[in-house]
Amino acid sequence: MSFHDVFAPLTLDSEPKKYTYQEGADFILTQFSKFSPKMASFAKHAFEQQWIEAEDRDNKRPGGFCTDFPLERESRIFMTYDGAPGTVATLAHELGHAFHSHVIRDEPFENTNYAMNVAETASTFAEMIIADASVKEATTKEEKIVLLEDKIGRSIAFFMDIRARFLFETRFYEARKDGLVSADQLNTLMEEAQREAFKDALSEYHPQFWSSKLHFYIAEVPFYNFPYTFGYLFSLGIYHQALAEGSGYEDKYIALLQDTGAMTTEQLAQKHLNIDLTKPDFWESALEIAVDDVKEFLELTNDLV
Ligand SMILES: [Zn+2]
Repeated sequence: MSFHDVFAPLTLDSEPKKYTYQEGADFILTQFSKFSPKMASFAKHAFEQQWIEAEDRDNKRPGGFCTDFPLERESRIFMTYDGAPGTVATLAHELGHAFHSHVIRDEPFENTNYAMNVAETASTFAEMIIADASVKEATTKEEKIVLLEDKIGRSIAFFMDIRARFLFETRFYEARKDGLVSADQLNTLMEEAQREAFKDALSEYHPQFWSSKLHFYIAEVPFYNFPYTFGYLFSLGIYHQALAEGSGYEDKYIALLQDTGAMTTEQLAQKHLNIDLTKPDFWESALEIAVDDVKEFLELTNDLV
């Protein structure tokens, strides 16, 4: 398997289900309400007030974006919705960002500016609810395999691809202390980082990756890769707890989001979740979810290989 194969979608005979915008919205509202009625009613408000521009039209790029307007105390979402399960999850992701802004809107202004490592917590949590529910509600085995593969793809991105970027950037800063780093050196650093993060599992790597990845060029935010993996694991762990605790979790979760601009992540986790982030337990329980997906995927695909 080569580096580019990692990003290739899995195609089986059946096409995964498509959701009209209305169906996607209904699915999100139903699934959100299982975890948090407050989150669901907020999302309903965003849909009804038309805070979301989601049209799939020519010359509009894929992906999603959410921005908040603190004075209006509202958010707006700009995205391209094509009906694939992945874009339903993206819509949920952006609604998660908007919900985060919503619950901290009454905090003192200086406490509404939270750090990068918790900026993706609410969004990833919302996305997880939808991605998980889509897999559970898949009606055919093929559909389930495709959806699971999409979910596992995220784990690969967070634990391997983004880890490679982190290793690369760490070593780049070290090398830069001794002078300019040439393109050839950057290629070497990149490939070494990828080999290490992917555990030498691939037949080819992507040494020029550094030249095309936007995040390396945002000079005011160095290490703009680490927060994704941290945020992913942090919200996976929260999701794990939410599944175990049920409906009582909602207020705890909202209180945690409200404090994101006022505390370190270690303090947040200790105060609201009674968790010590400096110990491996919480992180390992988060990883378990990803490992379970892989196990299920292997079982389901056993007779296809
Ligand atoms: Zn996001």
